[in-house]
Amino acid sequence: MAVLTKRLPENAPGDFFVDSTCIDCGTCRQVAPATFADGRDASYVHSQPADEGEAHRARMAVVACPVAAIGTQAKHTFGAARAAFPEPLEDGVHYCGWAADSSYGARSYLVVRKRGNILVDSPRYATPLVERIAALGGVRWMFLTHRDDVADHGKFRRRFGCERILHRADVTSATRDVEVKLEGAEPIVLDDEALFIPVPGHTRGSVCLLYRGRFLFPGDHVWWDPDRRRVHASRNVCWFDWRKQTESMERLAGYRFDWLLPGHGTRVRLEADVMAGEIARCIARMKRA
Ligand code: SF4
Repeated sequence: MAVLTKRLPENAPGDFFVDSTCIDCGTCRQVAPATFADGRDASYVHSQPADEGEAHRARMAVVACPVAAIGTQAKHTFGAARAAFPEPLEDGVHYCGWAADSSYGARSYLVVRKRGNILVDSPRYATPLVERIAALGGVRWMFLTHRDDVADHGKFRRRFGCERILHRADVTSATRDVEVKLEGAEPIVLDDEALFIPVPGHTRGSVCLLYRGRFLFPGDHVWWDPDRRRVHASRNVCWFDWRKQTESMERLAGYRFDWLLPGHGTRVRLEADVMAGEIARCIARMKRA
């Protein structure tokens, strides 16, 4: 748990606080933006919750935080906050919360569907989350967007018997036993709802999942920047090849979608035409970077 003696001075006075162990993953800012904001290298409490609704979101952030850097001075019960994950977004797509430190707090998502649920990247293997996922039908496939956000993939495999999917170019010693290794640079159909789109650049084997032609899970290939209010990709976190990442983005521009659900950075829903314009402007900036 967060420690009061490590409370960051930027926190607004009052109950909730962030301590100095924060890794600036942004999870709390996504979950409870009314309470948490982006500081220089860490999040902080910009406003204490004003009502029970905001307090509930702040408690959800406590649950989701990968390093237990959020604390409260008052005693709270967290049952409702734990039960809130996976959080429904739209059309069976859920946000898992319960971020894992080993994935640097990356977001993961559960797609609930008749053809078999897909867990996109790995949340923390936490019993309350695992029980909720089981109640939603378990996990048929675990799609790993790239090598960095695999966290507790082995535990989910053992619990649900899911087939794990990762591009061969991103397989490491920690993932050598994944069941499905994607190959090549061409899109790969899982079924008529799910398409894998290789997007080498951030890593050699980065892959997006496009679900129902509406939901794009890009891993760390691209995300929404809430401060500049634009779709964004960063050369600073390109671990493989920026030119290839730019080319991958140009190929991605050939698809229409209205949800962008990244591993890091913020998710966003825009009208498909607006999203297409955002992607085009992002490509133009990438070419200049
Ligand atoms: S969720 Fe935790 S680690 Fe991530 S930014 Fe918030 S306080 Fe920091």
